[in-house]
Amino acid sequence: MGLAQGALDMAIKHVKGRQQFGRPLAAFQNVQFKIAEMATKIETARTMVHKSAWLLDRGKPDTKLTAMAKMYACHVAVEVVDEALQLHGGYGYFNDYDIERFYRAAKVLEIYEGTKEVEKIVISREILGKF
Ligand SMILES: Cc1cc2nc3c(=O)[nH]c(=O)nc-3n(C[C@H](O)[C@H](O)[C@H](O)COP(=O)(O)OP(=O)(O)OC[C@H]3O[C@@H](n4cnc5c(N)ncnc54)[C@H](O)[C@@H]3O)c2cc1C
Repeated sequence: MGLAQGALDMAIKHVKGRQQFGRPLAAFQNVQFKIAEMATKIETARTMVHKSAWLLDRGKPDTKLTAMAKMYACHVAVEVVDEALQLHGGYGYFNDYDIERFYRAAKVLEIYEGTKEVEKIVISREILGKF
């Protein structure tokens, strides 16, 4: 969640500061829509993560929800970082900007601590039972 939120924060700073066609990027509706979508995805994932942690804290861990939260939050991190880098344009590709490092860091989230495929196995087994 921190990675996704950090990428969104960087994108917001960039689109407010970068001027194109006499206006900040943030003035273009397509850019505004992208920011809105990124923020919505992060909030959805954060709610799932918080709910699964809340249940765990109360001694009622929910295996399915926890696997969903891990899989979805990591997917959101990959998507949001990708979009944040895109909003940086060519600057996003250079390692002077942190967003390039975030791009690489996001992908590994879908690999360690349970790959996204393994999370899907856990979720589907909780729903369908084991075959
Ligand atoms: C930076 C980093 C840090 C790590 N830190 C740790 C650590 O601290 N402790 C630790 O124990 N491990 C750690 N790992 C290892 C990590 O948990 C494994 O890389 C991960 O579990 C995937 O295993 P693998 O690399 O052997 O891939 P593989 O098992 O070879 O899987 C390759 C692909 O096939 C898919 N796949 C495999 N089996 C199935 C299946 N049955 N059904 C469907 N798809 C399947 C996987 O999801 C994956 O997409 C780390 C990895 C990285 C990259």
